[in-house]
Amino acid sequence: MIIIDGSFGEGGGQILRTSLSLSLITKKPFEIRNIRANRSKPGLLRQHLTAIEAAKTISQAQVGGAALGSSCLVFEPGKVQGGNYRFSVGTAGSTILVLQTILPALLITENKSEILLEGGTHNPFAPPYDFMEDVFFGYLRKMGAEITSQIEQYGFFPAGGGRIKTVIHPAGQLKPLHFSRRKKIIKQTALAYSNLIPDRIGQQEMIIISRALNINKTNCKPKSVPSPGPGNAVIVKLESDQGSECFTAFGEKRKPLEKVCQELINQVEEFYNSDGTIGHYLADQLLIPLAMAGSGSYFTSQPSQHTLTNIEIIQKFLDIPIRCQAVSETTWQIHVGG
Ligand code: ATP
Repeated sequence: MIIIDGSFGEGGGQILRTSLSLSLITKKPFEIRNIRANRSKPGLLRQHLTAIEAAKTISQAQVGGAALGSSCLVFEPGKVQGGNYRFSVGTAGSTILVLQTILPALLITENKSEILLEGGTHNPFAPPYDFMEDVFFGYLRKMGAEITSQIEQYGFFPAGGGRIKTVIHPAGQLKPLHFSRRKKIIKQTALAYSNLIPDRIGQQEMIIISRALNINKTNCKPKSVPSPGPGNAVIVKLESDQGSECFTAFGEKRKPLEKVCQELINQVEEFYNSDGTIGHYLADQLLIPLAMAGSGSYFTSQPSQHTLTNIEIIQKFLDIPIRCQAVSETTWQIHVGG
């Protein structure tokens, strides 16, 4: 039984999800203690319980300790089975984080899966649907995965109620992916999603983003999207000679739209300051697929605590070297495999 200390490094929910993903693909059981010890409300929340439930269901796992607020969990997976599954977070918790937990295992099963997920689709502190479809899935497709997804309903924090459908075909062995340093940006677009807030908010956000990041006005689109509750997400999508990236900031009640835009501009500028292809968030999420492929490398900005923590967890389940090396003041190379 692999023992994981949920308080080390980032000390958040990602340690649990990464452990579940790796346990499913390696069939190694694990016990995690001190779950989310570094968060203000430690222990399992609804979103984490849904991820555990999803991992349990697709693998007929034996599970102990899966209760709201629990700080310890034991997970012993059985055989992973593709199929038709439906999981509901029940709150605005992120559907994408639940999907990312079971996706690696479903890519290497023998049969196709259709996954319906209900909850949040555009949540702060989680990958938004646009990032998952355009960027994360985009790179997995380059590695040989056949995945299609559709957003049937948008779900914003706090009302949730979003719905996404994903079809995953068995991919067999994933292909390695190696990136060079980014040389040029080929295309920039921006979007401001909104629901149940005045139209002028999305319009003004697009004017600010267009000016600050020098994106052609015709490529900056405010878009009204129906959802059970109010919401506002501002997104910049980039295409470089090496691949795609997507950055997001979220509007909230009483948060000035200028502040939302500035948060987004800061993320994009951090990306431009490095000549990496892979942004701050994607850097931690690509590690599992590359470890499954046995090899991969990319340039990024200084590795986040999420990235460093993920590397340690991966190495508890898989015997694979992963190195992070600074190649300039702002750019790092992460190398997975020998
Ligand atoms: P908690 O730590 O409270 O349990 P959590 O369960 O949401 O929160 P974290 O450990 O914070 O988990 O992990 C969040 C994940 O979401 C990380 O993989 C991070 O890269 C990703 N993420 C966060 N914000 C974005 C974003 N704007 N775009 C893409 N990915 C994001």
